[in-house]
Amino acid sequence: MKIAVINSGSSSIKFQLFCIEKKSVLAHVLVEKIGESSSLARLEYEDKKFVITSVIKNHHEGLDRIIALLSEHEILQDFTSLQAIGHRVVHGGEDFHEATVVDENVIQKIKNLIPLAPLHNPANLEGILVAREKAPLVPQIAVFDTSFHFHMPREAFLYAIDYAMYEKHKIRKYGFHGTSHAYVLKQCAKHLKKSAEELNIITLHLGNGASACAIQKGISIDTSMGFTPLEGLVMGTRSGDIDPAVIIHIQRELGMSVNEVDVLLNKKSGLLGICGNNDTRSIIDSGDEKSQLALHIMTRRIKKYIGGYMALLGHVDAIVFTGGIGENSAYIRAMILDSFGFGIELENTLNSANATFISKEKSSVKLMVIKTNEELEIANECLSILERM
Ligand code: ADP
Repeated sequence: MKIAVINSGSSSIKFQLFCIEKKSVLAHVLVEKIGESSSLARLEYEDKKFVITSVIKNHHEGLDRIIALLSEHEILQDFTSLQAIGHRVVHGGEDFHEATVVDENVIQKIKNLIPLAPLHNPANLEGILVAREKAPLVPQIAVFDTSFHFHMPREAFLYAIDYAMYEKHKIRKYGFHGTSHAYVLKQCAKHLKKSAEELNIITLHLGNGASACAIQKGISIDTSMGFTPLEGLVMGTRSGDIDPAVIIHIQRELGMSVNEVDVLLNKKSGLLGICGNNDTRSIIDSGDEKSQLALHIMTRRIKKYIGGYMALLGHVDAIVFTGGIGENSAYIRAMILDSFGFGIELENTLNSANATFISKEKSSVKLMVIKTNEELEIANECLSILERM
């Protein structure tokens, strides 16, 4: 049984082909720079790598290239023989609390959500439409970044502003990275030999984008990203939490336009804003004062979220690190957890080895490192829908 997962961006398509019986990835294809003069298609399978450079005008041609590559390399001869195609969709708003088979109604709802995710939903939708054209009889399944956070209580998702902003304009916290938090929860449950529904955990997805999630009895009850993925933790290029009056001030007093503020907060802030670099690994290596300061600001914010979520959850079984930084950086984990208090104790040797369990035996909360796999989570979501169909 073969399931494809498509993550379609504005100028890229990330494609993975899974063999469900073997629980393995058969191939990755990344098509980049769609619409530019030097588009690329990178195919990886069985330790082999190929890069093809040529013009790929649009997503139709991008998927055509993927289909041709899979056929030429005898990985998948017939694209229409797939059991399902799973699509990452960033924003499911208040419409989608779980993965959903795409039909006209779903397409319309994803379109209606474009104002809430103007950069992502149109590109995600394009991926769906193109795949539907190439394989009209194969179920297309939309998996939303927001849906894991769908059950957050109102006191978690409402901002303390005029209630009409929520009622009329749907301004509220939605939360993102849901597929990653959900995957990591399930893996954590396996490691702890418990069901997800029994667990209270805090998951920290720390990559270029970063978010924390408070999970109570298997349900997200709070998360750091908000109306957009800008809120919350300090990220590679995003500020995370900031006094909203700063935005008013820089527009009113410094004359910055709305677009300039958007670029400032999303693309020129976070680690990059403080020390001029957003690659955590090289920031750690450089060790200069600004770099250290940037890491202190980032890790202090993470600490504050963990503390807040511990208070919300009451009892915490595990704190789980994932994402490029969370999975690989013992240094950052130690900055967050050293002298944390509350009986939380990191075991340095295990931490340095990126072991799954990195806490001391006597630690009040288990500390864990789990590699995320959002594409596999999407494939598994597809599988569970297929089993119900
Ligand atoms: P994205 O959000 O783009 O998917 P990733 O999850 O791939 O990001 O994480 C990218 C970040 O992970 C980068 O800042 C990179 O420096 C950091 N990273 C990866 N490996 C390490 C490491 N060994 N030590 C510190 N940071 C690391």
